[in-house]
Amino acid sequence: MLISKEKAIADLIELLGAEKVLTDKAALEGGEGFNRSYEKAFGLRTNPLPMAVVEAKCTDDIVKAMKYCNEQLINVIPRTGCSSGEGLLEVRDPRTIILDGAPMDQIIDIDPYNMMATAQCGVPLHVLEDKVREFGLTTGHSPQSQPVAFMGGLVATRSIGQFSTYYGGIEDMLCGLEAVMPDGRVIRIRPVPRRASGPDMRHLFLGSEGGLAYITEVTVKLFPYYPDYMWMGGYIMKDMATGFKAVRDVMAKGYKPSVVRLYDKPDIDYNFGSVELKDEEAFMFFTVEGPEAVARANGDGIHAIAESYGGQYIGTKAVEHWLEHRNDVCKLIGNPLLHQRYREKNIYYATTEISANWSDIAKIYEDVMANVPGKIDNLVMLGGHVSHSYINGTNIYFVYQLKISAPENFYEEHCKIVDAICEEVLKYPTGGAVHHHGMGKQRVHFSPIEHGSSFSLLEDIKKMMDPNSIMNYGVLVPRYEK
Ligand SMILES: Cc1cc2nc3c(=O)[nH]c(=O)nc-3n(C[C@H](O)[C@H](O)[C@H](O)COP(=O)(O)OP(=O)(O)OC[C@H]3O[C@@H](n4cnc5c(N)ncnc54)[C@H](O)[C@@H]3O)c2cc1C
Repeated sequence: MLISKEKAIADLIELLGAEKVLTDKAALEGGEGFNRSYEKAFGLRTNPLPMAVVEAKCTDDIVKAMKYCNEQLINVIPRTGCSSGEGLLEVRDPRTIILDGAPMDQIIDIDPYNMMATAQCGVPLHVLEDKVREFGLTTGHSPQSQPVAFMGGLVATRSIGQFSTYYGGIEDMLCGLEAVMPDGRVIRIRPVPRRASGPDMRHLFLGSEGGLAYITEVTVKLFPYYPDYMWMGGYIMKDMATGFKAVRDVMAKGYKPSVVRLYDKPDIDYNFGSVELKDEEAFMFFTVEGPEAVARANGDGIHAIAESYGGQYIGTKAVEHWLEHRNDVCKLIGNPLLHQRYREKNIYYATTEISANWSDIAKIYEDVMANVPGKIDNLVMLGGHVSHSYINGTNIYFVYQLKISAPENFYEEHCKIVDAICEEVLKYPTGGAVHHHGMGKQRVHFSPIEHGSSFSLLEDIKKMMDPNSIMNYGVLVPRYEK
């Protein structure tokens, strides 16, 4: 028989101490980041509250909490920086505790010789970055949420930073980790430079969305930091299709920019306003980092390719503007001004990030721009940009504004456009419905299509790692029964 909420809270207090088990209204209602922020602005809550928020101070606290919840079949949502979207942190089952690793905020080791840093899951990325800069190094990880995301969440979401084309995503940086399994087992993956000893266990935790285990500690690579010189170039392109071709050539010819961006007009007008574009035009820009001679040579090659596609060079001012303002949106998280804006205008802005190879990406962009407006009555704005490129393809961040009809309709109206975009993407053989935010609970129904015949393996992994299905109910595997 399932134990009562009161008994569960009393047991957790006994196990961990009263100061670590929070049940006050503010604690229970807080910390969901942008998830459902629109509803909250109107004092509405359509999903259940958790039973408690448990603040873990060490791995042993996580072990005790996980073991207990596993035995009592209580859902556990791991949490660190609370900056994620996609419903990742949303409570869907009232028998839930939020297991908050934010107090686990110690940098354990910085090893400049072996170019690695080890940090607890609750270390904010910006704190680690500031610390390693003292050694002339950088984590190379710079998601737009850098001011607010923490190390545990960054690994659990398979995050990626704005300078990814040079440094890679978190999967290229993570060397080792410590995690706690639902049954309380502590496992460690040693930070070996490379190994061929069977499947790579790191990948069971990268992108696990809090649905498989609790990540308590991570070891990431460090890179030399070259602040003195950065090559930059901004170009106006005839249209997005031409921009895709130019970016493809830059990547396929082996150049190594750090930032690669291609914006359409609606997106640049809404988000930066730093470049005047005609309707069909696009703004493309690059930065290059590294030793100066290498960066200059890379920059020269990229410039030649941009011009060969008719790119009109507009200098570096708009690039500098982007560099300065690229993370401004983070100031809105938890900011009462955002809620006020929702109440006054009833307009919600969000993004949906997808990916595809070079032959499909331009068609996907065109299809989404052509077909989605017809399906979404309350669409105010739709645009998109490329922000992470690879030798075999790229991503698009679709950005949009919706005029929400009523707060209680918010979630359904938001899901409708997310679905409309993903459906266009998944028509293509190489279309990926989620590039870097995680499927969360909002896009998980696409998981069987996204993974195709390998989806059954994902179900098996979930059953193997979390047999009682206590971890973040609703992520990774849709309708996984308890
Ligand atoms: C303005 C804004 C910009 C963003 N820009 C980017 C971007 O450029 N690139 C990008 O990749 N993402 C971006 N994101 C998304 C988000 O910041 C990332 O997903 C980030 O990795 C989340 O980290 P967090 O510490 O805030 O995790 P949380 O929000 O606390 O949790 C995220 C997920 O990870 C799980 N989790 C958290 N901690 C642990 C743990 N210790 N063990 C196991 N599971 C855990 C949670 O259960 C949840 O499913 C952005 C978000 C916002 C709001």
